[in-house]
Amino acid sequence: MRAKGGKKSSILNPDMKIVCIGAGASGLFFSIIASRLGHEVTLLESNDKVGRKLMITGKGRCNITNNCPNNEVIEKTITNPKFLYSALSSFGPKDTIEWFSSHGCELKTERGNRVFPISDKASDIVDTLLTNAKNSGVKILYKQKVYAISKEENGFKVVSRGGDSYCDKVVIATGGKSYPLTGSTGDGYFFAKQFGHTITPLFPALCPIKIKEEVRKQMLSLTLKNVALTAKEGKFRKTIFGDMEFLPGSISGPISLSMSSLINKLGKVELRLDFKPALDEEKLKNRILREIEKRHGEDVGSMLESLLPYEIIDFFAEYSNTLIRTKLSEFTKSDRNRLIENLKRFPLTYNGLESIDKGIITSGGVNVREVDSKTMESKLTRGVYFIGEVLDVDAFTGGYNLQIALSTAYAAATHLE
Ligand SMILES: Cc1cc2nc3c(=O)[nH]c(=O)nc-3n(C[C@H](O)[C@H](O)[C@H](O)COP(=O)(O)OP(=O)(O)OC[C@H]3O[C@@H](n4cnc5c(N)ncnc54)[C@H](O)[C@@H]3O)c2cc1C
Repeated sequence: MRAKGGKKSSILNPDMKIVCIGAGASGLFFSIIASRLGHEVTLLESNDKVGRKLMITGKGRCNITNNCPNNEVIEKTITNPKFLYSALSSFGPKDTIEWFSSHGCELKTERGNRVFPISDKASDIVDTLLTNAKNSGVKILYKQKVYAISKEENGFKVVSRGGDSYCDKVVIATGGKSYPLTGSTGDGYFFAKQFGHTITPLFPALCPIKIKEEVRKQMLSLTLKNVALTAKEGKFRKTIFGDMEFLPGSISGPISLSMSSLINKLGKVELRLDFKPALDEEKLKNRILREIEKRHGEDVGSMLESLLPYEIIDFFAEYSNTLIRTKLSEFTKSDRNRLIENLKRFPLTYNGLESIDKGIITSGGVNVREVDSKTMESKLTRGVYFIGEVLDVDAFTGGYNLQIALSTAYAAATHLE
């Protein structure tokens, strides 16, 4: 019996009956590894397909991992990073890349070390997992929503739509509560509570940030490149550089999503946008003076076109009280100072986060203090395992969240003793 890299696995008792609930990233991967180690694995999925959430990851391309050292995954994990040390050391990003490449899915590394299938199709990741699960003998049962799990004298009874299943160990891989149409409706939290676990409060993470300002239609197609978003509340202050996008009623794109995961437990947050983080105030003043000199007879609006994308000028002008029809010849020093202030610290009025449904990931979940970080086994009820997003672990975008799903799945599959 051998696990990754030909290492001897720690299996003491192969041929156990395992029921895994949820055929997402973690459940599929767990089932393949456990089955190859000699266990009889039944995978119960409420949908009529496996990996529905996986199909929409990475905008349909699936950013399966990040080509980085294990410690970078830890650094990019926002909640409970230390819980992952052991799981990542057993199966980290390099192992993910090697596993998919050697199991029928070639991968490529892009900007920011993000790893995608070479085909740019998330379906290739899902097909690879499904084919390998079938070839390893995993019994996949579809349309089998699990309603309850109970501890029996010699194992567990799992009650699902199609009837009762009995097993030695049960693995909860039901995901979080975001994008519930994919099947991840938060059932795992209910099962965990049945076994006495605490569920840390759930928050949306990697989700759009609502603002009170009215987003104009033309801004919906805009990507603001290389801007800086700052959030403040009391002693908390964080600035994130990068690209930003707009949705009706909210800001999105990489920096807003990342910021949402940092402010999701805070209250009244102050948001400021720096449109020109590469220019300090002095350089920006000189740039504006140069533009004024060049543009005889023109108005403030035409100067703004040299400083900001066209699609955002009306929005900027309205919320910064900039009169765009003012002739540049009448543009005073105090107007200029106000413009600089607004270009560097444009206020956006925080209106909370979008709901958990719209978060890429759920923050909060099964309290990791109650789970063995080496094996993913419940410390409260032996034989129950938690893997993937159901755990109270969440990370930034970049492939880290799927890596966490795979690493925790591998840890459980190789420790079913
Ligand atoms: C739009 C979007 C894009 C994303 N892009 C990326 C990305 O590119 N890279 C990245 O690293 N992460 C990404 N993520 C996050 C990533 O998808 C999750 O971290 C990952 O899918 C979690 O895997 P999981 O196995 O824990 O749960 P899931 O993939 O959510 O799977 C859970 C499964 O359990 C099933 N289930 C639930 N309850 C029951 C029940 N009672 N009975 C039976 N079955 C049940 C569900 O139907 C589902 O199939 C993205 C998320 C979203 C929403």
